[in-house]
Amino acid sequence: MRVINLDNEENKEKNKEKKLSFEVLNNIKASEDLGLFRCVQCGMCTSVCPAAKFSDYNPRFMVEKVLEDDNSIIEDENIWNCFYCYTCHSVCATGNSPCEINQILRQIAIDEEKQDKNLKLFASFGEDFLDIGIGGIPKYFFKDLNKDIEGWLDFKADLDTIREELSLGSVEMPQKSIEEIRKLLKTSKFHKRIDKLKGKSK
Ligand code: SF4
Ligand code: SF4
Repeated sequence: MRVINLDNEENKEKNKEKKLSFEVLNNIKASEDLGLFRCVQCGMCTSVCPAAKFSDYNPRFMVEKVLEDDNSIIEDENIWNCFYCYTCHSVCATGNSPCEINQILRQIAIDEEKQDKNLKLFASFGEDFLDIGIGGIPKYFFKDLNKDIEGWLDFKADLDTIREELSLGSVEMPQKSIEEIRKLLKTSKFHKRIDKLKGKSK
């Protein structure tokens, strides 16, 4: 249940004018109980956010901009650094979800063609999902990752042997499961959406 008084004249007007905060709240991706207007700007989400630790992305700031109806946040490249781990969602004491808000802002950015250069990177997550049947670090990042962590590619290539030596199971998804996931994704036209995103990228 939303805790926002829509009978309040100011909010009624904002809703009518489709201000960003209401656009987010009324978006089909927003949960029924999304606590956007309950955010107290405590910053807990930013303090636990892995993306905030390693980049200029700041979920508290992103929510602040939405609450201020400041559409410039849609064009802020930092919003693409969130990787939907949902840690912010799980710690927010007011039931807000920067993760969910981020997904909505990105969708608006895609629809309004305001972030085209980030789409190739974004689509790479989906491509890898189609390829290996599980979410993971897309191949798109491998080269940079190897620069950041020396020998990472060799480590990755040897992972199966290392896991075997440690008596750990394989990390590979069984081929049958991958095929089943691909079938589901094909039925839901997921691959078409990925192609569309790639087509829009610059
Ligand atoms: S979204 Fe939640 S955790 Fe983040 S600043 Fe607002 S109230 Fe705090
Ligand atoms: S979902 Fe995004 S915003 Fe939330 S903690 Fe994870 S990376 Fe940060």
